[in-house]
Amino acid sequence: MADPVVIATWPFGRLAVETALRALQAGNSALEAALAGAQAVEDDPAVRSVGLGGLGNALGTVSLDACIMDGRTLQCGAVAGVENIRHVAALAKLVADKTPHVFLVGEGAKWFALQNGFSLEPLFTPESIAEWAQKRPKVKDPAATPIMPAPTAADSHDTVTVLVRDAAGHLGGVCTTSGLAYKLPGRVGDSPIIGAGLYVDDEAGAAGSTGVGEEIIRIGAAMLMTEAMRQGKSAQEACDLAVQRVHAFAARRGVHPARVAFIAIDPKGNPAASCTERTEFQYAVARGNAIELRQAKPFAPKM
Ligand code: ASP
Repeated sequence: MADPVVIATWPFGRLAVETALRALQAGNSALEAALAGAQAVEDDPAVRSVGLGGLGNALGTVSLDACIMDGRTLQCGAVAGVENIRHVAALAKLVADKTPHVFLVGEGAKWFALQNGFSLEPLFTPESIAEWAQKRPKVKDPAATPIMPAPTAADSHDTVTVLVRDAAGHLGGVCTTSGLAYKLPGRVGDSPIIGAGLYVDDEAGAAGSTGVGEEIIRIGAAMLMTEAMRQGKSAQEACDLAVQRVHAFAARRGVHPARVAFIAIDPKGNPAASCTERTEFQYAVARGNAIELRQAKPFAPKM
């Protein structure tokens, strides 16, 4: 038996890591622990990018995306564009547990939630509405369609992605987000996409993403990292590879690499993270009982 390892994105990842560790100590599986950690962040109204209190889209509607994956079985589930349901990570797990499908969206996902005892609730808080209104991209003609901000705005996103390796070496992962604030209604990022926002395989490793989802989808980030680890790369090398790929594809399009960050746990149980240069990326790590917040060193590949 090895020490359990938990890694989660952003400073609020500390809450996820602490909660996941307690869940592991209570005898839960790696996936259940990751879910408990993610759900603690969904429940925190002060976090403006996940669950309750998330910032709304261009119309002010809070629309959530999530996915889960079990490294033992490759069971996975996902939901996207879900309104008025707070615990979308748990809903994604239910898709995996109770249906033959992997991915439910919008009204269908909401209907499935209601069938399974979830309740509807407003996901904004007085504080989140005020922040939404204050930071909303200003439009000349309020009657016109709101203008989209550049999707790289530093403070308009931040997903919680939680990866867990339990003492028996099994892996589980969860990703949950309200996505980019002020996004176009209907926009879905990487977070609920298996292989982009999350991929977990006991035999290869676990990997997750955060940041500008469009760039993460473009490189198939989580699958890229997991396959790199399957071929023997460390978690750090896998995360750096994903950053390198973002740089390479940005160069091909003549744009700056977007703000993105990656986390991973390799099959040996090493946690690691990497990010592009303009991303101030902090993440939380637990090994055994020790929990710490770390700052990722941006990776600048030689091009
Ligand atoms: N990846 C998320 C999205 O694009 C946002 C984030 O993690 O910051 O929806």
